[in-house]
Amino acid sequence: MVYAPVQPDQSLPPMRINLFSDTQTRPSAAMKDAMMRAELGDEQNGDDPTVNALCDRMAALLGKPAAMFLPSGTMCNQISILVHCRPGDEILAHQDAHIVANEGGGPGALAGAVVLGLQGARGMFEAATLTAALREKRRHAPTQTLVAVEQTSNAGGGSVWPLALLTEVLCLAHDEGMQTHMDGARLMNAAVAAGVPASEMARHCDSVWLDFTKGMGAPLGATLCGSEAFIDQAWRWKQRLGGSLRQAGLCAAACLYALDHNIDRLAEDHANARDLASGLARVPGLAVEQPETNLVFFDSSATGLTAETLARLARRQGVSVSTVGAYRLRACTHLDVDAAGVTLATAVIAQAVRSPKA
Ligand SMILES: *Cc1c(COP(=O)(O)O)cnc(C)c1O
Repeated sequence: MVYAPVQPDQSLPPMRINLFSDTQTRPSAAMKDAMMRAELGDEQNGDDPTVNALCDRMAALLGKPAAMFLPSGTMCNQISILVHCRPGDEILAHQDAHIVANEGGGPGALAGAVVLGLQGARGMFEAATLTAALREKRRHAPTQTLVAVEQTSNAGGGSVWPLALLTEVLCLAHDEGMQTHMDGARLMNAAVAAGVPASEMARHCDSVWLDFTKGMGAPLGATLCGSEAFIDQAWRWKQRLGGSLRQAGLCAAACLYALDHNIDRLAEDHANARDLASGLARVPGLAVEQPETNLVFFDSSATGLTAETLARLARRQGVSVSTVGAYRLRACTHLDVDAAGVTLATAVIAQAVRSPKA
């Protein structure tokens, strides 16, 4: 079975409101200007001043001694796992985590690590669940080396780990002699929604990263942070995997622009997500999960329409949402969608449910 990306359908009308993902934002004119003005050098040699500035900013923002620029969030996760784990080691993470479901089996394929998937509501798990999953340290059992959390949890509904739970789980991991990793693809959404500094959320993490291609609106790039020793080892893997770059300051400049301009405004995305959720909740047959950040998950079972059918009907009217299950859909707000767009998208989806044949 070969994974086939969805082919663009030429018969579809132009996209009006793209709620498919916050990854589909386009760099703004001002962001592109910042990219064009960036001072550049050879990143691989540590000579790109813009990348270095971004790494300094990110280390400070996430409260870690060192940082590294990488092309993608997936590479941040996989390099972290490669540094933390040896072949045969076990990672404890939520069963719906991105590293489990969306990275092509990377932990097994690259680090030779296995993931033990933990259960819990909204993509999070309790300290008691972690305790119950701990193995006796004996020759027969895999060595449990890493606990990984996602902030926000994507499949969990864009949910935010409360600081107290996060601290409890991560400190338990440390008490048990394990390392801790945070997939912070949407960490700034969590920080803005909870009003808690990202550095507080990352305090007990040995590795943590932020994606600039989600709500931050940059075209490319993520930043991995940790101790000097961790980043030193991570550089070996960056080099080995071909993630060492050249004039990457071109992209780092977009990330710096995003740090200056696109963090506080995440609150608008969250407000738009709440409005979208309450609008969709008024559509008979749709069951909507209350959003905590910019992701709105809803269930179409009671409408009689599958997620795919409903998404197709909406797309025919220029509104794009993604399907994440037979009857589960996801709509994602971001900086290219405003309140008027949310109103229009809600109306289009309501109309599709009301008269699917039209
Ligand atoms: C998008 C995402 C990733 C992967 O990031 P890429 O930059 O697309 O490689 C990892 N984890 C979570 C939770 C994500 O949402």
